[in-house]
Amino acid sequence: TDTHVTVIGLGLMGQALARALLKAGHSTTVWNRTAAKADPLVAEGARLAPTLGDALKASPLTIICLTDYPALHELLDANDIDLGGTTLVNLTSGDSSQAREAARWAAQRGARYLDGALMAVPPVIGTADALILHSGPESDFEAHRPTLEALGTLSYLGADHGLAALYDVAGLAMMWSVLNAWLQGTALLRTAGVDAATYAPFARQMAAGVAEWLPGYAEQIDKGSFPAEVSALEGDARSMAHLIEESERVGVNAELPKLFKAMADRSIAAGHGGEQYPVLIEEFLKPRED
Ligand code: NDP
Repeated sequence: TDTHVTVIGLGLMGQALARALLKAGHSTTVWNRTAAKADPLVAEGARLAPTLGDALKASPLTIICLTDYPALHELLDANDIDLGGTTLVNLTSGDSSQAREAARWAAQRGARYLDGALMAVPPVIGTADALILHSGPESDFEAHRPTLEALGTLSYLGADHGLAALYDVAGLAMMWSVLNAWLQGTALLRTAGVDAATYAPFARQMAAGVAEWLPGYAEQIDKGSFPAEVSALEGDARSMAHLIEESERVGVNAELPKLFKAMADRSIAAGHGGEQYPVLIEEFLKPRED
């Protein structure tokens, strides 16, 4: 269905967003501080609004994708821009407090507001592989879902505007943890002449196997009860020590395993040695006390 939609911010990402909307047949109005970036989109059928105010008035829905939240406020607080009655979908990267603050700011100006996080690079936008997280009032999300679906695979997370930003960084924590663990193993295996490609299938199998434990472990965390059904933290700490010793013996970096052993040791010192691994959540729930 053809709906009117505006895209503000035509950087690498904003251009990809506008292009996906055009391809899906939506009447797309665009605006960018540097107007020349709209040229290729205009050639593909977009309408370039002469002013920011015109861009916002052109559609009931405006998607914004700028560098950061300060840029968003700098732009929209200027020139007394009228946001009354519009729905803003902000796909600019930021943290949860910036998202919640932007939601309050939009409400004061009479706009509906959804936050979002893009878990994809520009070339993937407009395909099912582009995962896009949304948070904010569900009715606003549902009202614009048919249009937003042109951008990728949507995931609605809840009414709290900060959720998209939090899931975004939680996803990064998963990504870097898996990648660093894999690099640790790759370094260990190289000392025996095993190349990365040879080790990778085993690493992948391990990562997938461990991922299977998450739902059960999550239940323990949500219940706040950590019976050692499979193993106890004390035993896990012994195998961490083994990983550190082997790393040091073969001459590779042991910083990463030392970091997680230090956390396990603190948890054991606090009396949790006989409980199951997810009890370590206690260490993650508080800032490090030196
Ligand atoms: P770009 O640097 O390519 O584009 C930035 C955009 O913000 C431009 O349209 C720029 O306008 C505009 N802008 C910056 N400051 C201001 C301001 N003060 N007033 C008005 N406009 C301003 O970045 P991307 O398009 O790559 O990224 C945009 C957002 O998308 C970021 O938050 C990024 O983290 C996020 N993102 C990007 C991904 C990527 O792979 N590119 C992946 C996932 C998220 P002008 O053209 O005039 O400079």
